[in-house]
Amino acid sequence: MPKEPTGPRVVILGAGFGGLTAAKALAGSARVTLVDRHNFQTFLPLLYQVSTAGLAADHVAHPIRGALRNTGVAFRMGSPISINHSNKTVELDSKEILEFDHLVVALGSATADFGVPGVRENSLGMKSVHEAITIRADVMRRFEDLCRIEDKTVLSISVVGGGPTGVEMAGAFAELVRGPLKNDEAQAAARVIVNIIEAGPRLLPSFAERLSERTKRDLEKLGVTVKLNTSVAEVQATLIKLKDGTSIPSDVTIWAAGVQGEPTAARLNLPLTKSRIDVEPTLQVKSYPYIWAIGDIAGIGSHGEDFLPMVAPVALQQGRFVAQQLLRMHQGLPLLPFKYRDKGSMATIGRHKAVVEVKNLKFAGVPAWYAWLFLHLFYLLGGRNKIGTMADWTWNYLTFDRGNRHIMDSV
Ligand SMILES: Cc1cc2nc3c(=O)[nH]c(=O)nc-3n(C[C@H](O)[C@H](O)[C@H](O)COP(=O)(O)OP(=O)(O)OC[C@H]3O[C@@H](n4cnc5c(N)ncnc54)[C@H](O)[C@@H]3O)c2cc1C
Repeated sequence: MPKEPTGPRVVILGAGFGGLTAAKALAGSARVTLVDRHNFQTFLPLLYQVSTAGLAADHVAHPIRGALRNTGVAFRMGSPISINHSNKTVELDSKEILEFDHLVVALGSATADFGVPGVRENSLGMKSVHEAITIRADVMRRFEDLCRIEDKTVLSISVVGGGPTGVEMAGAFAELVRGPLKNDEAQAAARVIVNIIEAGPRLLPSFAERLSERTKRDLEKLGVTVKLNTSVAEVQATLIKLKDGTSIPSDVTIWAAGVQGEPTAARLNLPLTKSRIDVEPTLQVKSYPYIWAIGDIAGIGSHGEDFLPMVAPVALQQGRFVAQQLLRMHQGLPLLPFKYRDKGSMATIGRHKAVVEVKNLKFAGVPAWYAWLFLHLFYLLGGRNKIGTMADWTWNYLTFDRGNRHIMDSV
């Protein structure tokens, strides 16, 4: 049994990469309550494999209470609706009021539509397990429709956004079509088209140009149509209108073009710049020294310039750092500025196809693919999820099949 915790009362909003890390780092040194609208943490980097039938949905979701077992950290399922600064309390939608000495905001990010008409109504986002299952169901249902008709009707799947999520998604869809769907019904699979649409001149713009080129080639080898310098003007139900006046037929449009700070921060009246909370280099929210923000929702620059990228390592490092800062403050020690250690980036395109960039080290192909597999398995939470993921991956690898092609979004 863990000892009854002592120390400052800390409420952490959001149990994602940043919030859960902070809660575990504070366990035993503070009285911590972690709040999330879900009772599980989502491993977002593998979500695209759920939407493309490579992984079962529950392998990317880890129960928060399980992660907190024996830590002494309390959990509340709910959403914050307001902060009372004079009493230092936060009210949840369950009407529960939590008192705090420190509040850590780790609410992550939400899909950004950049004001493009039709995105909300006619495209599918990729930020939650529910959305991933919806994408899978939509594609599989339309594939079943295609199997019923033997004419020239095509099913066009378009992924908008050429960053890592878009690239991984497009590659995984292409492999789904070439493998399992072809084995299911070849004449229908032959009529499925996968597009990736990117406004800029290259895929994976944050990687070296050579790796962007390699990614494009690898996707094209898988049969993906890569459209660069292509800006979306509007998304309609079965059509994407482009800014140059032309259009692309698209039955399923997946919007992976951008993210913004989770809108709840605005509802909590915290100071924002470009949808992310204004924070000092110490991670304290501007004007509120007892409130801290970490991860995707925190707007902190690497050198006082651009904001840090919305990636898991930033949230993990800030989660550990904010715990130390709170304890330093409690002990009357001076606070330190946060420094991000960039350990590199990677993206997978398909079987034996991936790109890795770690400082000056850049590589692609089979070694990059194994590095990607190992790292994702390492960071995935929970033994059950690791074993389940390994089982799914091994099955997929050996059989060229994908066992999670279920349509499970309706009765
Ligand atoms: C599809 C996808 C793929 C990605 N792939 C990679 C990758 O390969 N590598 C990488 O480094 N990064 C990747 N990222 C980015 C990475 O997942 C994020 O940077 C990271 O999750 C940020 O951590 P966080 O703690 O700030 O937010 P999150 O991990 O998103 O956690 C936020 C938490 O807050 C909760 N929450 C939000 N709003 C509310 C509310 N109103 N009430 C209660 N709870 C709320 C959410 O349920 C969630 O649990 C990916 C992101 C996505 C969407």
